[in-house]
Amino acid sequence: MTKNFKKLMQHDKSDDCPICHAEDLVTTTLIPAVAAWEIANDFPQFSLALHGAAGLLSAMIEEGYKRDEIEVALKKLLDEFEVSIANNTAMAGPPQGSA
Ligand SMILES: [Zn+2]
Repeated sequence: MTKNFKKLMQHDKSDDCPICHAEDLVTTTLIPAVAAWEIANDFPQFSLALHGAAGLLSAMIEEGYKRDEIEVALKKLLDEFEVSIANNTAMAGPPQGSA
């Protein structure tokens, strides 16, 4: 993994970690905004999410990042999100009203 990529993937363990801030921004702002745009424009759910993500990543390719490194990084991040989702689901317990 190149030096630039390490900078994008590694948390610096500070209270002011830029990677944590980027993740927070996506969760609190980008995801709700994209969902609202999809609804407002009558796009299929997640159409903008998927194509937006691919478009953003293609901008990295245009800037000279290697596609295979982007794919490795994306797989790692998705793996981490899946673990996080599974943990959150486990902590939340069974769905409300299912008892
Ligand atoms: Zn961090």
